[in-house]
Amino acid sequence: MALLSLKELYNGYDTHFAVAAFNVHNLEYAQGVMMAAEAENAPVILMVGAGMSKYCGLGWMAAVCKYAAEDTHLPVVLHLDHAKDLELIVRAIQAGFTSVMFDGSHLPYEENVAQTRRVVEIAHAAAVSVEGELGAIAGVEDDLQVSKDLLTDPAQAEAFVRETGVDALAVSIGNRHGLYQQPADLDFQRLAAIKGRVEVPLVLHGGSDIPDAHVRRAVALGIWKYNVATDLKIAFTNALRARLGETDSCEPPATLGAAREAVKELARKKMQLLGCSGQGGRWKAPAQNREVLR
Ligand SMILES: [Zn+2]
Repeated sequence: MALLSLKELYNGYDTHFAVAAFNVHNLEYAQGVMMAAEAENAPVILMVGAGMSKYCGLGWMAAVCKYAAEDTHLPVVLHLDHAKDLELIVRAIQAGFTSVMFDGSHLPYEENVAQTRRVVEIAHAAAVSVEGELGAIAGVEDDLQVSKDLLTDPAQAEAFVRETGVDALAVSIGNRHGLYQQPADLDFQRLAAIKGRVEVPLVLHGGSDIPDAHVRRAVALGIWKYNVATDLKIAFTNALRARLGETDSCEPPATLGAAREAVKELARKKMQLLGCSGQGGRWKAPAQNREVLR
């Protein structure tokens, strides 16, 4: 089927689980994730990072991911991750992305609201969903290092969603991008408080390297979109490195094929953990949503 917007995906379900969102950087990543979705019968969100798009190209990835959606009966969303400027967002919408994140978390609150609201106006006119972020998420994100650790305030989150009209909200509850130096310490009380005040789906960034029990708890408390980037890159690279040490072949199936398989296996594990396995065929197009929400 055609790519769905984030909001269409969310509104097509009446049960709660988390959807895995994976950063994909080339054909093998995208194929590995789609092979996992097929094997698990899971909905999936394919993401391209704003910084990484300089490497892989928005248009190239849009073409690959549009085909991925058309080639399956499963619900698929194509999302631009961590865009900080409007120009890139407009280019992504023109390229066919169905969801964009505007990350104004580094801005003063009022400026974050104003710029996010502007993105929402533009994106919604094209039937594209918008994820906003409130509270900074520490760690390495694409090519930038975020050192500030500012947790999301529940009351401010409620006001932010109301004032901007975003379709999803990324929260900072102790999650970090990249690998955790110390064990992940998520603030579940804060997450529950945010969930109690915010109606749009909540997003957890930095979903790599978090113990399974904590992941399940975060999902139970309301996380709906769960972002995975680093774990997938580690699986891809380790498999490729190992294979290159084993073979002298220069054939892509003999080298990159192992990396693609590793992406598939890791993605399957994440889907099982998040509860989205088996949900692919249960998505229903809400009767009036296509016109109203897209
Ligand atoms: Zn992120």
